[in-house]
Amino acid sequence: VNSSDDAILSKDLDGVITSWNAGAERIFGYTTEEAIGKPVTMLMPPERYNEEPDILARIRRGLRIDHYQTVRRRKDGSLLDISLSVSPIKDAQGKVIGASKIARDITETKRAETELRQAKENLALLNAELGRAKAGLEREVLLRTAELRRTNQQLEELVYAIAHDLRAPLRAMQAFAKMLLEDYGRHLDELGQDYCQRIVRASANMDALVRDLLAYGRVARADMPLGTVSLQTAWEEAVSQNEPVIRERNARLEPSLPLPKVVGHHGTLTQVLANLISNGLKFVDAGTTPHLRFWAEEKDLRTVTIYIKDNGIGIGPQYLDRVFRVFERLDGDRYPGTGIGLSIVRKGVERMGGQVGAESKPGEGSLFWIRLTKAPGE
Ligand code: ADP
Repeated sequence: VNSSDDAILSKDLDGVITSWNAGAERIFGYTTEEAIGKPVTMLMPPERYNEEPDILARIRRGLRIDHYQTVRRRKDGSLLDISLSVSPIKDAQGKVIGASKIARDITETKRAETELRQAKENLALLNAELGRAKAGLEREVLLRTAELRRTNQQLEELVYAIAHDLRAPLRAMQAFAKMLLEDYGRHLDELGQDYCQRIVRASANMDALVRDLLAYGRVARADMPLGTVSLQTAWEEAVSQNEPVIRERNARLEPSLPLPKVVGHHGTLTQVLANLISNGLKFVDAGTTPHLRFWAEEKDLRTVTIYIKDNGIGIGPQYLDRVFRVFERLDGDRYPGTGIGLSIVRKGVERMGGQVGAESKPGEGSLFWIRLTKAPGE
């Protein structure tokens, strides 16, 4: 009893203290001499006096009180939180003659509990604030994204409108330059004829540009209902669009058949593949016979990845992303083109809900890949 950290004391049935241990001295501040013979109510703040008759009544009936949390008062008048256990003391005949009390100082535990509760409340407040901030941010991002999409759409429409309206004056330039050569060529000296031919060539280049821009505009703007499309049919049509060059270069095309069905848009998929085939045939050294391999892999349950591999001049790894941008050309001096083909590929694939990319090194050919959703039931 004397080496316990808790206050252990006993009292008789009138509530007079009869024993007092070292723990009680430490916790309540009264020495044994000061405490013994005094009423236990001296340990109670006045507003708790009414607890004592109830406690005594229970003890008289031989009942215990376990871990009852209450407030007591030290000698210096300060209050402390305690957990109280009271049990009856009986004489040899079993008659209740008093009570023993064990009081544990729980001020620290209480303080920790209060702090924990406050911390929890603060956390809840912070969380609510964070939630509000996040919702605000998300709203902002949504608004900005919608705004960007609108601006992008307007730009694409502008490009389409300009390209469309350029056609008529361009055709007139082309036609009149040709007529000038045919009908008045004999009146012009060699330099004059050369100038005219330059006008014809330049307007043919511009015509190709306008044509490709319009094709880009159509892929970017057109309604594109998605459905199940046959990769094999799209491939065959794309090949036949490139037939003249395939024959001219004696190219070898090697698809791994059969090819699966995918979610997409037939016309767009055909155009995407035709552009990739056209590049694979074009960007090949003059002395090399073009060889294109084409296959599809199902890497997960949801998607199909389509590969097209050539034996061409390759692309430096630092340009692999750039080549998909409008007007980006790496070998403009050696090979004809407008720099729009791969932008159409990217736009088309994105509008079909897919992704596109390339792997290559100069001199080692290029591998272009497209990932699309697998058709239901495939
Ligand atoms: P274009 O073919 O009209 O030049 P693209 O947008 O189709 O325009 O291609 C952009 C550039 O990417 C090309 O000019 C070329 O430098 C490079 N490129 C595209 N495809 C290949 C390929 N298969 N092999 C090597 N370079 C390529």
